[in-house]
Amino acid sequence: MHELSLLRGVVDAVEGVAQGRTVLRVGLDVGSRSGVIPEALDGAWPVARQNSVCEGAELQVTEIPAAVWCPSCGCEREIDEFFALTCPVCGTPTADLRHGREFQVTFVDVE
Ligand SMILES: [Zn+2]
Repeated sequence: MHELSLLRGVVDAVEGVAQGRTVLRVGLDVGSRSGVIPEALDGAWPVARQNSVCEGAELQVTEIPAAVWCPSCGCEREIDEFFALTCPVCGTPTADLRHGREFQVTFVDVE
């Protein structure tokens, strides 16, 4: 399972940060185009944290909407993940994806 192996990587990273302290909460940014399904993360977390420093820790997933930089509008525009890489306001095609591929630990709360 894709999500489980990703979370095992998260647990490894948290282990390095926590250095033996009790971990209460782990924050994770997940982009809507990262290919990761937040619901699957919730399901896999109890398995991934077993016998680790994260045992008992809560996983807080923040979904990051996909956004492209539109050169015509001169700003970032959020895109629906089912649309092609096109500005939803003016229709200009753009391959400049600024957000949406995130998969990163944002914070670790320890006791
Ligand atoms: Zn535009």
